[in-house]
Amino acid sequence: MSQVVGRFAPSPSGRMHLGNLLCSLLAWLSARSAGGRVVLRIEDLDAMRCPRTFADLLEQDLSWLGLDWDEGGSKGGPHGPYYQSERSEIYNLYYQRLVERGLVYPCFCSRGQLHAASAPHRSDGQVVYPGTCRNLTARQVAEAAKRRPPAWRLRLPEDLTLSFTDGHMGPVTENLPADCGDFVLRRADGVFAYQLAVVVDDALMGVTQVVRGGDLLSSTPRQLWLYQLLDLPAPTFCHLPLLLAPDGRRLSKRDGDQSLENLQARFTPEQIIGKLAYAAGLRSTPDPVRAADLVADFSWDKVPRQDICLPDGLF
Ligand SMILES: [Zn+2]
Repeated sequence: MSQVVGRFAPSPSGRMHLGNLLCSLLAWLSARSAGGRVVLRIEDLDAMRCPRTFADLLEQDLSWLGLDWDEGGSKGGPHGPYYQSERSEIYNLYYQRLVERGLVYPCFCSRGQLHAASAPHRSDGQVVYPGTCRNLTARQVAEAAKRRPPAWRLRLPEDLTLSFTDGHMGPVTENLPADCGDFVLRRADGVFAYQLAVVVDDALMGVTQVVRGGDLLSSTPRQLWLYQLLDLPAPTFCHLPLLLAPDGRRLSKRDGDQSLENLQARFTPEQIIGKLAYAAGLRSTPDPVRAADLVADFSWDKVPRQDICLPDGLF
């Protein structure tokens, strides 16, 4: 069997917080417990929102926690560059393959039109694209292009059901046209969409195992379709439960006390890892522990599938 390659793929728009700390810990444990390698890719597609200083801090934070990686980030390696903001030429190569096959069309819908009250919504709150711009004539496109630059969408087949088994969450099935609709590959500002970038990156970087937050579970069928269209090898996926505040609210960057900057002032790396491992079901007590000492006993079976509510007073 070929070697497991896992990855960290953080978006450095701020300091790490508990949610992405847990994700990094589990991604690292999942790869290392299988004797695998780890790649660090910086997901700074929105380069303006992700200054390099945050990416550098993120590397320091991962190292401080004892989560190491074999290639990527400022360390470089054979599959670089490892910053998405430097990879648009690579994304364009794959994007053009889809363009050449007639699978990409311009969409001139405004945000307001897309989010109109009549628009069908997915369970995750996203809008199902109704195909408004799917069959515009060349003349209509030329007219609309005078008013605004278009986003570029992938034309899906009329009927397309994708199923896969998530390594942690189990079987997932989605009918892409009905549940999502034609999705954006390139934004109106020219930036390639996350869906395309993540597929190209994971495939070219040899990633075999994607561990990430459960909020991305619903985007996986879109990515699997892109893997098929581009004839790229798809990785396996393990999606994590959400980490919730003690009162059941979703943790976010706005929870300033949960940012690593604040946690570092109060705890050692071993204390933070110990508390996270306890919250995630990996240990029976929140005692301090090194990440490396969790590798031998790691198992996805210990991690709950339902949302994890942080015990009151743990952090
Ligand atoms: Zn449109």
